[in-house]
Amino acid sequence: MISPAGKVWLVGAGPGDPGLLTLKGARALAQCDVLVYDYLASQAIVSLAPPDCEKIYAGKKAGRHTLSQDEITALIVRLGLEGKKVVRLKGGDVFVFARGGEEAQALAEAGVPFEIVPGITSAIAAPAYAGIPVTHRDHNTSFTIATGHEDPAKGYSSLDFAKLANRKATTIFLMAMGNLAGIVAKLREHGLEGDTPVGIVHEGTKPAQEVLTATLDTVVDEIARTGITAPAIVVIGDVVREREKIRWFDAQPLFGKRVLITRPAHQADDFATRLWEAGAEPILAPTIEIGPPPDPYAARDAVARVRDYDWVVFTSRNGVDAFFDRLGELGRDARAFGDARIAAIGPKTAAALSARGIRVDAIPKTFVNEAVAAELLARTSTAERVLVYRAQEARDVLPDSLRRHGRTVDVVAAYTTRFIDDPALTAKAERADVVTFTSSSTVAGFVHNVPEAAALLARKTIAAIGPITAHAAREAGIRVDVVADEFTVDGLLRSLRSIASGR
Ligand code: SAH
Repeated sequence: MISPAGKVWLVGAGPGDPGLLTLKGARALAQCDVLVYDYLASQAIVSLAPPDCEKIYAGKKAGRHTLSQDEITALIVRLGLEGKKVVRLKGGDVFVFARGGEEAQALAEAGVPFEIVPGITSAIAAPAYAGIPVTHRDHNTSFTIATGHEDPAKGYSSLDFAKLANRKATTIFLMAMGNLAGIVAKLREHGLEGDTPVGIVHEGTKPAQEVLTATLDTVVDEIARTGITAPAIVVIGDVVREREKIRWFDAQPLFGKRVLITRPAHQADDFATRLWEAGAEPILAPTIEIGPPPDPYAARDAVARVRDYDWVVFTSRNGVDAFFDRLGELGRDARAFGDARIAAIGPKTAAALSARGIRVDAIPKTFVNEAVAAELLARTSTAERVLVYRAQEARDVLPDSLRRHGRTVDVVAAYTTRFIDDPALTAKAERADVVTFTSSSTVAGFVHNVPEAAALLARKTIAAIGPITAHAAREAGIRVDVVADEFTVDGLLRSLRSIASGR
């Protein structure tokens, strides 16, 4: 008896860049009970599955304990029959040299409902990220995707080399690195010219991407010289020459850079996505997290009485989140603000308010406390009452300055930032080329975990989101190379990009 809920989704994860997962694949992942995945599926995609989802690593990579294909097939059939929602995640596309056909067949035979969610195959995407179009009007009218898994020298290859030996018809080999010398020899035997361009794309679409371009005559020597290895796509044909003109992904200034993100996990997604888009590899290493305020009563009371204030100042998205959490607990909504005007420091803070239907009355142009104080002073009068709803650990420049000028200011801690203990932080930082700090507390959290921070970071590029954060880093003995011109993650990336491109 099949439980009606049981179903298996065979999902193609795409070639590596997590942005190349389909929307349908992401939806399937977000709702699964069990995830069965391969080594080609990236961690960023695996982490889209719910936290309580059971994650089963199925292999297949040399040297690691894995399941055989029969065991994998039996496993997904069994889980489906047990009524589980199962995602079977495969690198690239599920039916391109991925044995998805056999798995679907077994599911069909067992009567387990299933869906196929095709993925972007590395056969096309890896060349695309290398600037090699698989077809081009000037060069070809067809392409063949072939496995290079069979060794033609052993005489049992079923590939039709006479057909493949045509430079006007691109051939794309997967799994060919081990047998490339034999494949090249066969193609030459069948008359393919020695100057036919060959492109090899290792770890295509990822920050580790490496591309080699050569010719049939030179490629074997070039592989030995450069040491380029599997996993790789081999493209043979004149389209490879287009890379000279349309190389893009690995020409970006931040390409291949490993960038440590120390900000809290719940705020890292956006930054990580931007880094992937820039061809960089984000390393998630949150050093702080958001915790409850030291005085929950005060935090809630300020929210309950918010209409007593003339101005409410939010200094971060976390403050906005905390405010609305309290408001929800009180069973109230945004009308609680009454006539109070609202100031937000930083565009992300304003965006968090706007997402809740609140139009902000003042967004200071700079996000440095001193400048914000000056602007708020200009907008308020001495009789007015101001609530500053912020982190426990924030600096007092803003409230002090307002008070000095006769404003009545209540500072209420909406949340605390606490250090995360991460024994792996040193190792993560050692892997990184660039270390980013997006607040003074991320610096403190880093130093908390890595007492030798200054020495370790001396060999890295250090980027700070603004002058206060940069100051905190320098106080801790950490040299700062990049300070963002605009104090946002986008600003930070812009500054990093211009440093990396030597401007
Ligand atoms: N279903 C996958 C292919 C699996 S076969 C797909 O559609 O992409 C495994 C082979 O795919 C590897 O040996 C390699 O040739 C190729 N491959 C997969 N991901 C790759 C990547 N990111 N870059 C280069 N080659 C890749």
